Amino acid sequence: MSRRLRVAVAVAVAACTTGRAGVVPVDPFAAAPPFEESSAAAGDDADDAVATPIADAYRAVAARILADARADRGGWDKLAHLADRIGNRLAGSAALDLAIVWAADAMRRDGHDVRTEPVMVPRWVRGAEAARIVTPVQRDLVVLGLGGTVGTPKGGVRGQVVVVHGWSELAARKAELAGAIVLYDVAMPAWTEEHGSGYGDVVPFRWAGASAAARYGAAAVLMRSVTAHSLRSPHTGSMGYEDGVAKIPAAAITVEDTELLARLAAAGDVTVQLELGARMLPEVRSANVIGELRGREQPDQVVLIGAHLDSWDVGQGAHDDGAGCIHVMQALTVLRRLGLQPRRTIRVVLFTNEENGLRGAAGYAAAHAAEVGGHVAALESDSGGFAPRGLEVAIGGDGSDEVMAQLADLVTLLAPLGATTLERSDHPGADIAPLTRQGVLGLGLSTDGRRYFDIHHTHADTLDKVDPQALADGVAAVAVLAYVLADLPAPLHVPPPPVIYVSP
Ligand SMILES: [Zn+2]
Repeated sequence: MSRRLRVAVAVAVAACTTGRAGVVPVDPFAAAPPFEESSAAAGDDADDAVATPIADAYRAVAARILADARADRGGWDKLAHLADRIGNRLAGSAALDLAIVWAADAMRRDGHDVRTEPVMVPRWVRGAEAARIVTPVQRDLVVLGLGGTVGTPKGGVRGQVVVVHGWSELAARKAELAGAIVLYDVAMPAWTEEHGSGYGDVVPFRWAGASAAARYGAAAVLMRSVTAHSLRSPHTGSMGYEDGVAKIPAAAITVEDTELLARLAAAGDVTVQLELGARMLPEVRSANVIGELRGREQPDQVVLIGAHLDSWDVGQGAHDDGAGCIHVMQALTVLRRLGLQPRRTIRVVLFTNEENGLRGAAGYAAAHAAEVGGHVAALESDSGGFAPRGLEVAIGGDGSDEVMAQLADLVTLLAPLGATTLERSDHPGADIAPLTRQGVLGLGLSTDGRRYFDIHHTHADTLDKVDPQALADGVAAVAVLAYVLADLPAPLHVPPPPVIYVSP
């Protein structure tokens, strides 16, 4: 989530005209000057004007896509079905199996070429959970086990609470940790324009906190939920265990309960009882769902638009990542309905098991390894169904400025949505990471994320939190981006990405 560089994008809609207003050409470049020539000419002519050859060539068709997608409520109907009729859908659950069948059928009904590709996934089940303060007061805590945690032994774990605010304090208090329940009280900072959500600042404690505490003999860990605003909702999310270190139970508690425990612990000894029924069962078969609009000239070259169909086992997975699935499914449907067939193939991939294993991403990359030269770009939507804001791009090295300039030109087409930001990012999407590591242009749809982490990975990630127009605008943005990327006369030349992303 780091926001290292924000590229100012000049939006010069009024200044640019193709002279073809109202006409929707099948090939936008057929009636326009050659691509490079038009770019160079515009650059030479005016030092203060930003050349926008891509936007110039595609403005008319983009306007048509935007108008159709923004007025369409087909995506909303799909999300309502997924959220209300299927609900949350963790890897290995019956609900995810239902979602896979539903998504494939829905894309078939919309006329796409559809198939599923099998992937084995872990099957973690939560079981019953309870936590309470035993001394110095008796009080129930709202608890939600972290994804992948082990369960507690029968009868639960009881221990003295040691509140720490970071790794150095954990190490400094190691003498107190044998048999203790460590509480990581690390507050997620509020969202800012400059820094974004601050999610990445806190997630390392969720991911690595259990093993770090277990090394000093702790019996269990609790953590302050990863959110900046709380209405007593606990937030789950993935965690991992280090090899060779005892596996101890790990759970999230609410911000409110964290602060209560911190106040009590500052005044004296506090004891908590924790019971988690979590278990890891044998792996089961799951699948990625794939739907395509075949290209008219180079069908073997692929622009992937992807999202993850699984969710955590709470709420409805409406924003995370039901909305992303709708963005990519409905974008393909809008293009097909408009009769727009780009030069290259647009491929929707609904990945399985993003939340607790990334097996769908790994399975897709492995299954399509021989085809990787065929991916010209991969766009992921996994930032919720909020109003689109622009693009995050994994790009670095020689030549990246040129690609960024072309993308800056491209996103001016999204000016009617207010979605023209363009930022370099080391993590535009977890499911496309195996492709970006191999040099495929990796793009992430960024959204107005100010409220996302209020409900992220909670019981409150439900359909009522999604605004139908914002969802449709996200579909519109993905449809324009996918169409243009798949139709450009030559794919954008992509320098290697800057970093390799490791943990979710
Ligand atoms: Zn997600």
